[in-house]
Amino acid sequence: MFKKTVFMLVRSDLLAQNRAMSNVGFIGMGNMGAKMATNMIKKGSKLKVFDVVESAAKSVAGATVCKTPQEAATDVDVVFTMLPDGHVVKDTVLRADGITKGIKKGALMIDCSTIEPKHAQELSAIAKDNGYRFIDCPVSGGVTGAAAATLTYMIGGSKDDVETARPYLLQAGAKIFHCGGPGAGQIAKLCNNLILGVTMAGTAESFNMGIRAGLDPKVLTDIINVSTGRSWSSETYNPVPDILPNVPSSNKYDGGFMVKLIAKDLGLAEAAAVSVNSPLPMTAAVHQLYRAMMNHGLGDKDFSVIYQFLQGKKP
Ligand code: NAD
Repeated sequence: MFKKTVFMLVRSDLLAQNRAMSNVGFIGMGNMGAKMATNMIKKGSKLKVFDVVESAAKSVAGATVCKTPQEAATDVDVVFTMLPDGHVVKDTVLRADGITKGIKKGALMIDCSTIEPKHAQELSAIAKDNGYRFIDCPVSGGVTGAAAATLTYMIGGSKDDVETARPYLLQAGAKIFHCGGPGAGQIAKLCNNLILGVTMAGTAESFNMGIRAGLDPKVLTDIINVSTGRSWSSETYNPVPDILPNVPSSNKYDGGFMVKLIAKDLGLAEAAAVSVNSPLPMTAAVHQLYRAMMNHGLGDKDFSVIYQFLQGKKP
């Protein structure tokens, strides 16, 4: 009798969870969003997706393609956004056929884009005014983490909303950190990405020097990856072509984290740092390097292309 009751409770819990997770809206089917959406579908969610580029939305097998953000936000419990910047996220929320027009009362918007902390706070206030919930939930792990569903989430918002989001987030990622109130997830993300921008630039200049001086790139990689110079940039996302498979440097620097996006993040980090009087000398220097790369036509290439930029080459 006891066993039967426990079984029924567990079963009804699972059914409730599956029901809760069955309807998700997802807006922004780019390098990150399409992979996250694909993983969520594989794990059993039904997705309604929207992207301004229709072919991007259509690339996600098994998703229902919507014509507007409003449509993607209608009749779902959770709406994800994975968009280039805070201005685009705000527009997607507030436009005439935007999220606020479709989202139901009490539903949760999860913004995984990297945006200005101030924009995240504004989006949280807009949600409150319109009767739905919001968390800022930027991710780290890059396109390789998105493909492997190993992303790390950094969340700003209420504890309850983090718990509502948890089962959905675990379909596309692995680690969840509650950083504080609205905007706190974005601050954590900017702290991470300024290290990323600096270490990628350092890795690129180190490999450039070593290879020019005659070292075998693979031997140098093996040394660095067991030495103190090791980082995500050397180990998981090496900027030298053909060291690692399935990374942008081995694919003409396409399909990863675009130079224009790391430049955006470093600018946001500098602005956030000014507001708390925290000097960022290394960030400022590499920010300017990535800006110069944009002016050399590299804005849409993966940021590891800084390796070839320092060589004076084009991919
Ligand atoms: P992306 O440019 O590949 O994808 C953005 C998508 O949004 C594109 O498909 C674009 O068509 C779509 N879009 C643009 N404006 C839109 C609008 N108004 N309505 C609907 N769709 C719109 O960028 P990405 O690399 O997927 O990055 C997305 C976000 O994630 C950014 O904020 C970025 O900083 C962050 N991020 C990226 C990575 C990475 O490695 N690529 C890692 C962590 C975080």
